[in-house]
Amino acid sequence: MNRVGIGYDVHQLVEGRPCVLGGVTIPHKTGLDGHSDADALIHAIADAILGAVGESDIGHHFPNTDPRWKNVPSRIFLEQIREILHGLGATLNNIDATLICEAPKINPHIKAMKAVIAEALMIRIDQVGIKATTNETMGFIGRQEGIAAMAVASVDMP
Ligand code: MG
Repeated sequence: MNRVGIGYDVHQLVEGRPCVLGGVTIPHKTGLDGHSDADALIHAIADAILGAVGESDIGHHFPNTDPRWKNVPSRIFLEQIREILHGLGATLNNIDATLICEAPKINPHIKAMKAVIAEALMIRIDQVGIKATTNETMGFIGRQEGIAAMAVASVDMP
């Protein structure tokens, strides 16, 4: 049976934090604030996959009160979710995601992000879609106060 899931995440941009998106550290004056590395792109993808197989969300599996997940690279969450899929006999068909941010420029880093995500999920790079758009300077994203990401996942499940 083919299943789909949707994910959304947002993190605040603050000074003194690295800007990690899709597992890639992007040079920028601000970075994403959160318990883990606050990688909004990977978090949205994680929730999309978990949703596709009817699992609870990322906050349930990797609570921000658990010191194990403090400042960890979020690709670890994808590796753990890969194991959850394996346990269910589910296989990923593809994921697709959109980052919404005014800055930094995402395009030069998309190839590297796809490689990180494909490796963590043990899928091919052409099964990973990543696009980026701005919010046309409007709202909190337009003011560069935060970065949002949305994702979908398609999974085959027995
Ligand atoms: Mg998050």
